[in-house]
Amino acid sequence: MRLSRYFLPVLKETPADAQIVSHRLMLRAGLIRQHTAGIYNWLPLGYRVLRKIEQIVREEQDRSGAVEILMPTVQSADLWRESGRYEDYGKEMLRIVDRHERDMLYGPTHEEVVTDLFRSIARSYKDLPRNLYQIQWKFRDEVRPRFGVMRGREFLMKDAYSFDLDEAGARRAYNKMFVAYLNTFARLGVKAIPMRAATGPIGGNLSHEFLILAETGESGVFVHKGVLDKTVPADVDFDGDLQPIVDDWTSLYAATDEMHEEGAGAELGDDLVSARGIEVGHIFYFGTKYSKPMGCTVAGPDGAPVDVHMGSYGIGVSRLVGAIIEACHDEAGIVWPEEVAPFKVGLINLKSGAAETDAVCEDLYAKLEKAGVDVLYDDRADERAGAKFATMDLIGLPWQVIVGPKGVAAGVAELKNRATGERVELSFDAILARLA
Ligand code: ATP
Ligand code: MG
Ligand code: MG
Ligand code: MG
Repeated sequence: MRLSRYFLPVLKETPADAQIVSHRLMLRAGLIRQHTAGIYNWLPLGYRVLRKIEQIVREEQDRSGAVEILMPTVQSADLWRESGRYEDYGKEMLRIVDRHERDMLYGPTHEEVVTDLFRSIARSYKDLPRNLYQIQWKFRDEVRPRFGVMRGREFLMKDAYSFDLDEAGARRAYNKMFVAYLNTFARLGVKAIPMRAATGPIGGNLSHEFLILAETGESGVFVHKGVLDKTVPADVDFDGDLQPIVDDWTSLYAATDEMHEEGAGAELGDDLVSARGIEVGHIFYFGTKYSKPMGCTVAGPDGAPVDVHMGSYGIGVSRLVGAIIEACHDEAGIVWPEEVAPFKVGLINLKSGAAETDAVCEDLYAKLEKAGVDVLYDDRADERAGAKFATMDLIGLPWQVIVGPKGVAAGVAELKNRATGERVELSFDAILARLA
């Protein structure tokens, strides 16, 4: 992509109303623009990151055996009356009346819709187990939307729903999601720690939240410091027994403030780390909470009807864009982990319009594109070198290739690593070999 033809409104000034660094950087680096409170436009650069995160989340859901579907954003209130949640959900639900005076709503979550879908299709225990997931926009009329996409009103969630014959099966489904989440966050380049969590309006009794530690997090967290060093197991067999992995991760103390036990602090002493965290994922097992009132049953092996055991599993896809920036930035701007970076390489032409640097840049650009490397080429003729450097640091692409007249005369360009700041002069071919 050529910057001269892109849509990248970089801001020099720090937006006054943005209170946390990720929100400021998302506005300054031209990732998002607010439409109205808690509702955002995703600009090209931000949308690329959102799609990369979405794709990693999707691949890890697929790997765990979940099956992707897409449910509607606008839902019928009748289903929520069946489950008993229509009144309970309160003001966070955006309620809509259609032209026939029917009560509708913009979905804050999809337990009711998926239970209705499943009961209309599943007939017997042979249709189990299943895990259906989607990546879909939600609306919650948050009292205080803030911190940009971290607490939006409209936001993108990956939500999965598991269906099993009994509690033991549901536990296996829960463990699959638990491990899929560990893998997902590791691939996204962030450390998200599973913690025992309260279940809130979704209900149920077994639940973990996954939190990224960050000073600006909205939850207080208390963790045994050993949890911080845990690693994610490679090459998990999702058909095997995952309980040992889950037990390993949950053996050390880790709780959000809602679940924190007074005595734990004294008992753990110096091993207890008290910090703040951002909730990026949440998994629940809630048994027959929805299947029973909504009549989602299948015929068991003996032919008698059984209420299906369910769980639900969310990841805040759009919140993750902000959360990753909270964890990955420096004074100059964003420092994207390579897996989610909007482009891998930023190509800077220090003298756009000069025949020599133009020729080298055009050649590098064409060859990188041909090799399938995502490149953003700063070919702007009306920007000075200093502004080009600042923009590239701000948007945080992992690699910068800097092409100037002196280097070109000597047959070299500079390759800069955004994360370490390390710069090396290399021949054009050596640069291509490193990046492609
Ligand atoms: P929170 O405690 O932050 O309000 P929640 O517990 O209400 O979140 P869940 O119902 O568990 O949220 O939804 C699953 C995931 O969706 C959360 O873990 C979070 O990452 C994301 N999420 C929830 N609310 C928002 C929001 N307003 N903006 C962006 N992401 C959100
Ligand atoms: Mg909430
Ligand atoms: Mg929560
Ligand atoms: Mg939650």
